[in-house]
Amino acid sequence: MITVVGSINMDLVVGTERFPKQGETVLGNLHTTIPGGKGANQAVAAARLGGEVAMIGAVGTDPFGDELVTNLENEGVDVSRVKRVEGPSGIANILLSEGDNRIIVVPGANHQLTPEDIDHSEAAIAASDLVVLQLEIPIPSVLRTLQIARRNQVPVILNPAPADGFSPEFLQYEPILTPNESEAAMMFGENWERALEAHPNRLIVTLGQNGARYYDGDRHIRVPGIRVNAVDTTGAGDTFNGALAVALAEKMPLEDAIRFANAAASLSVEQFGAQGGMPGRGETVERMK
Ligand code: ATP
Repeated sequence: MITVVGSINMDLVVGTERFPKQGETVLGNLHTTIPGGKGANQAVAAARLGGEVAMIGAVGTDPFGDELVTNLENEGVDVSRVKRVEGPSGIANILLSEGDNRIIVVPGANHQLTPEDIDHSEAAIAASDLVVLQLEIPIPSVLRTLQIARRNQVPVILNPAPADGFSPEFLQYEPILTPNESEAAMMFGENWERALEAHPNRLIVTLGQNGARYYDGDRHIRVPGIRVNAVDTTGAGDTFNGALAVALAEKMPLEDAIRFANAAASLSVEQFGAQGGMPGRGETVERMK
């Protein structure tokens, strides 16, 4: 069982030919609502790849809350620990233009996932093969999850995004960290490459189309990405993390697990939307050949 402790958002996507300037109104050419949030995305990615996944999170009492829970259920994710709290669900306001994006996240219900909620889920965390965390829920709840997982000897993947929530305090719980390059720079400074050697097999930096790298205690390893025609990289990192979780929960060796994650993420960027492009197991294994 993989337990994802994280955010559940509705993505409100608006496309426009060009971004409005301050005070300006422009006409858009696209509007759609798509379930998202890093936690939910990573849960869905893992479930599609054959993982048995449970989600710990919070949604609001608004109609988005119903849709978000139903979406996770339809993906086969156990939602019995997703709580409903008074008020709005989390949303991400995503503006798209010319292949670029500008995003505002309003956490809503996600910010009501408390350390006490995590305590109440200790038995579920303890029974997990792996826990997956990101930084879109309150940081005290992230910390509590790390503590409980550690106490119960359950490995954790911590995807440190958004990176401004990262605290060096997390490192004492020895999670597997999966920043992209800019997140790694925020966490460890411009010379983040040195940090790889301080965290052998535990700091995996994703490199976009170039794949990912880590230090295995002996040498630096780059696991190459798979070149594809990328149409939308939204959710590439989430697919990578969900896939990595499935592979590590199955006790795949780390390098193979990263190859699997690169293959899954490369499939995801070929299609629009974060969850929209997340692949199944068969096509991912096929892509690794
Ligand atoms: P995002 O924020 O876009 O979801 P990210 O910035 O968190 O992603 P990246 O390092 O850009 O993280 O990408 C994560 C993984 O997705 C990479 O390690 C790689 O496996 C895959 N990936 C990303 N972009 C591409 C691409 N253009 N072609 C192939 N694979 C890609």
